[in-house]
Amino acid sequence: MTAGYDLAVVGAGICGLAHALIAARRGRRVIVIDRDLAANGASIRNFGFITVTGQERGRSWAHARRSRDIWAEIAPEAGIPVVQRGLLVLGRRPETMAVLEAFRQDEMGAACTLLGREALSSWPGLRGDAMLGALYSPHEVRVESHEAIPRLARWLQDRHGVTFLRGASVFSVAPPRLETSRGTIHADAAIVCPGDDFHTLFPDRIRPHGLTRCKLQMMRLAPGGVDAAQPAIMSDLGVGRYRGYHHLPGHAALMARLEAEQPAHLAAGIHLIAVRAADGSQIVGDSHVYADQPNPFTDERVDKLILSEHAAVHRTTPPVISRWTGTYASGPETMLMERISDSTRLVIVSSGTGASTSFGIAEETLADLWG
Ligand SMILES: Cc1cc2nc3c(=O)[nH]c(=O)nc-3n(C[C@H](O)[C@H](O)[C@H](O)COP(=O)(O)OP(=O)(O)OC[C@H]3O[C@@H](n4cnc5c(N)ncnc54)[C@H](O)[C@@H]3O)c2cc1C
Repeated sequence: MTAGYDLAVVGAGICGLAHALIAARRGRRVIVIDRDLAANGASIRNFGFITVTGQERGRSWAHARRSRDIWAEIAPEAGIPVVQRGLLVLGRRPETMAVLEAFRQDEMGAACTLLGREALSSWPGLRGDAMLGALYSPHEVRVESHEAIPRLARWLQDRHGVTFLRGASVFSVAPPRLETSRGTIHADAAIVCPGDDFHTLFPDRIRPHGLTRCKLQMMRLAPGGVDAAQPAIMSDLGVGRYRGYHHLPGHAALMARLEAEQPAHLAAGIHLIAVRAADGSQIVGDSHVYADQPNPFTDERVDKLILSEHAAVHRTTPPVISRWTGTYASGPETMLMERISDSTRLVIVSSGTGASTSFGIAEETLADLWG
């Protein structure tokens, strides 16, 4: 393949696809190159949960709001169903409610609503009586990633004329030439979105960012127990974990209580996200173990801890019908965008938020590249 392109994107995960979309919308000729034959990384292993509330204040929150708007705009065009809307952050401790109340006063909480225990009876699948209340966020949308990512790629190809070269490892990026295992690609510019591969392209530019990899355990539960109107669910552990709550008064007190009452959950980096699919099944997770080379095995003890948190807030926890792990890039910054040269950028989402932020990030990268 030798045709010239305006832009070559390395990586066909959500980060690469987002950059391809924003470039194509500018009328550029784009090629996306990936070594996998079909999407197989973090982008199809996640919850498909486009999260705004809970993202770190500032840049991440702005990227998430912009990305949510773009997802809502393109999903109908690309034939991607939005299977769930909104988020309920459930609190069963006064310390959690204190943080949620502070969040509601914050600019990030302006569109959110605090609900008392009684209001939770609207969702019969929840153990409303075990809660003190909840924060409802209207911002979130959810897609079923393992279907949405291939559909997004197909739509980019059919509607925006993006070319895909799959089964091709890229081992050198120096526009106007990219060397791949399937030959040379000619493109005036390149954006590299390698996910958690830190070793193939520009390792010297990645190393100073202190990245490692994070392994997560995920499960799908059999249909049942949750009605179609229920938003995505998080619990006290999520308020402890998500960076968007860390600056708020009361957060340290919440962490102290969680350390005392759920030390095993904290040690395994567990917080609850439970989302519902169109067939009534739920995706439930997750745990976080950090290592440069995480092992591929699930730990049954960790799955049981995740399920115990699900059972603490739901009346029914249906049987597990599927389990998987995923990995993503993790580091002190939520993302990095490196200017490799005038014509090349390296973009890595390093906070497990790529489904929620990639479109916003892509607009920023391309403004930086092309003005
Ligand atoms: C279990 C799990 C749950 C998550 N839940 C959420 C969630 O609900 N919401 C959210 O916002 N985020 C979530 N995340 C994080 C999110 O999925 C990631 O941040 C995002 O998918 C990263 O996208 P990416 O395109 O950078 O990486 P990837 O999806 O890993 O894609 C990178 C691609 O680059 C290709 N590649 C790399 N190097 C080369 C090379 N040299 N040549 C050719 N191809 C190459 C790889 O083959 C791969 O296809 C979750 C992650 C996991 C693992």
